Formats: sequence, C-alpha cells, structure tokens
Amino acid sequence: MTLTPISPQSASAQSSVQRPDALGRFGQFGGKYVPETLMPALSELETAFEQYRNDPEFQQELQGLMRDYVGRPSPLYFAERLTQHYARPDGSGAQIYLKREDLNHTGAHKINNALGQVLLAKRMGKQRIIAETGAGQHGVATATVCARFGLNCIIYMGVHDMERQALNVFRMRLMGAEVRPVEAGTGTLKDATSEAIRDWVTNVETTHYILGSVAGPHPYPMLVREFQAIIGEETRSQCQTVWGGLPDILLACVGGGSNAMGLFHEFIDDPTVRMIGIEAGGEGVDSDKHAATLTRGRVGVLHGAMSYLLQDSDGQVIEPYSISAGLDYPGVGPEHSFLKDSGRAEYYSVTDKQALEGLQRLSRLEGIIPALETAHAIAYLETLCPQLTGNPRIVINCSGRGDKDVQTVAKILDLT
Ligand SMILES: *Cc1c(COP(=O)(O)O)cnc(C)c1O
Repeated sequence: MTLTPISPQSASAQSSVQRPDALGRFGQFGGKYVPETLMPALSELETAFEQYRNDPEFQQELQGLMRDYVGRPSPLYFAERLTQHYARPDGSGAQIYLKREDLNHTGAHKINNALGQVLLAKRMGKQRIIAETGAGQHGVATATVCARFGLNCIIYMGVHDMERQALNVFRMRLMGAEVRPVEAGTGTLKDATSEAIRDWVTNVETTHYILGSVAGPHPYPMLVREFQAIIGEETRSQCQTVWGGLPDILLACVGGGSNAMGLFHEFIDDPTVRMIGIEAGGEGVDSDKHAATLTRGRVGVLHGAMSYLLQDSDGQVIEPYSISAGLDYPGVGPEHSFLKDSGRAEYYSVTDKQALEGLQRLSRLEGIIPALETAHAIAYLETLCPQLTGNPRIVINCSGRGDKDVQTVAKILDLT
C-alpha cells in the first residue's frame, strides 16, 4: 500500500476532510483527551508513524507481509445471485460487489491494522503489546501478529464477550496470548477498552497499545485509517479493471468505524461516490437497547476523543447493546462524526433481526456466511435497493467471516 505524506498544517476545508489538523481534530471531533502520562507515548507513536510511513524498508516489509501472510489483495467479487435477488422485473437494478476482507488471514479486516502497528511497535522497541477486543477479531489479529514477531501479548476482553465469542478466546490462547477477562460494566467492548487504557497508563514505557479501530486519541484515528486504507485503494484499482470507472455506492458496517473508513478514505474526494455506514440498531433505535451512536448519540468525550456518543443527560455513557459484539460500542471514530455532520457520508441503522436475515440471505444466495457485523451492511440492501434508480454499482465491505458467530446465531435460529 502507498501511504500519502502528511503535512502538519491542514488549513483548508478540503484537507481537513483528508487528515486531522495539527491537534488531531476532524473539525470539532477527535483530539487527545488523555491523562498526562500518556501524552509522551502518543507523541512517540505519532513521530514513529510519520517517520516510517514513507520509509522504503518499512513499506517493503509491510507490503511483503500483506501479500504473503495476510493474502492481499482481497478479491472484489461480483455477487451475482444477490444482484438477481434485488433486480427489478425487467432485470435492471443495482450491481452488487463484495470486497472480500473476510478472506484475509484470521478472517476479517482487523489484521491490516494489527500488522501495521506491530511493525511500528517493533521499531519503537516495545516488547509488550496490549489490545482490547469485542468480538475477538481484533484480539485474534493482535495475538496473531504478536506470535509472528515473538512479542508478549495481553488482550482485554469483557466477560460477556468472552462467553459469546468463546471460539476466538481459544484461538488467542492457542497463539500464546493472555486473555484478561474484564468484569466491569456490561463486560463488553467499552469496558475492555477502558481497562486496556488503564494498563497502558501504568506500563507505557515498555508497552505499545494496538488500538483496533479508528477511535481513541490522536494519532490512532488517523493511523488506523491509514493502515486500513488499502481496502479502498485496492477497490479503486479493481473497479478500474472490471468496469473502468468508480463505484457509485460504498456500503460498510460501523462499530468504531475502521472497516468503513478503510473503504471510504480513498474516495472522499470523488463526489459521485455515495458513502453509507450502517450502525447496530439492536432492538430498535427507539428502544434503549442499541448501539446506533451516530444516529442517536450526542457529542461527548470517550476513550480520549470527542465524537458522537451514547450518553444520558448527565453525560454518563449509556450501555450499548447489539447482537454483534464487534458493533456493541457506545462511541464511534471522530472522522465518522465529521463526515456525518459535513454530509459527505450517510449513516443509518439496522436491527438485530434485520441483520440476522441479512446473514441468512448472503449465506443462502452466495454461500458466504458473513460476520454478524458485516450482516448489518448486507441487511441494509433491503432498504437501499428499492430506493435506487438505474443500475448503480454498489461495493459492500465484507468485513469478516461468520464462523465466530455461528454459535450465537444457532441459539436464535431454528433451521430444522
Ligand atoms: C471489529 C469488526 C467490525 C467493527 O469494527 P469497525 O472498526 O467498525 O470496522 C466489523 N466487522 C468485523 C468483521 C469486525 O471484526
């Protein structure tokens, strides 16, 4: 992948879309709301990133591993039967493509970022790696790259998530990671993230925190986006090869927002490309059980960044809910808040029930069992396709495979 150089000042509106300003802000969002003890570590990380993003030796190592270890590029797959399913009676309609991040080693897009960050950690001389995880995909990706580079790995995971994602807990342990259960709160992603930050504050000298999404304090939202941007870069060139043009619509699920930013970033300056992010509507956005941060949240600060946030009138974080552990987070990456307010991207939500239907639809029509997170983006086709005219080309980020969710889904669906 090619990382574009960053300039410290970004005064114009145009470039503030592309990168955070010198204070790590996307408009009013982002920033570094962290304890003093973390400021040197964040600066060190930013400096290392600036140094290595254009370093040929770093890029060569990263690109080699992306190819031979991760299996990139991931295919852009024409979903023929899904396309037929949504065709109008005359056969016209949306042409639906899947960007197959589910085919990456470890089964999701998370490895792109984990690999990039572990290479930075190695160069910063950090021997101990920590991470938070929700569905366990980021924990697995982090455990994987730590095994590959022989680094000490500790993963914080909520007890509730450990139960619903038992397979991923086992995978992490198999690769030599220590999985530390977090009992606080609802035992989900927010609580695991808070615990990982606490660990980092205590062990910052020896430890690198591999944050798993485009959330957290600057430079994480930018850094994670840059390591995930390969998704959109490959998509552009694959679209060019297949039909010689741009996609019309990009569709991705949004938890913290890294797979969506990875797909969107490359196309931000292409005004004809519509960008749609789908949040977890849980039992409905009018219930109190959902994780639709951009749809229903208000601006606040969580985990070091200002962004939309699910909070009560005292500013206390409301516990989120989703069937999908990877979307079950009360915050969202600051750049998504910026893209929402600027109108450049649109955000909607689908419920657990719709996501389950989406998961079954893709399984039956294409023989691809998507992750429950991904199933949210798939499910939105039900709403989107009837609204469209002509034959727009839609690229959906197939962010991960569903093996990890089979146990959860089997408890709900009766397929006999
Ligand atoms: C973690 C995860 C997500 C949600 O995280 P984002 O940062 O919003 O991408 C989505 N899909 C899969 C498969 C995941 O593992």
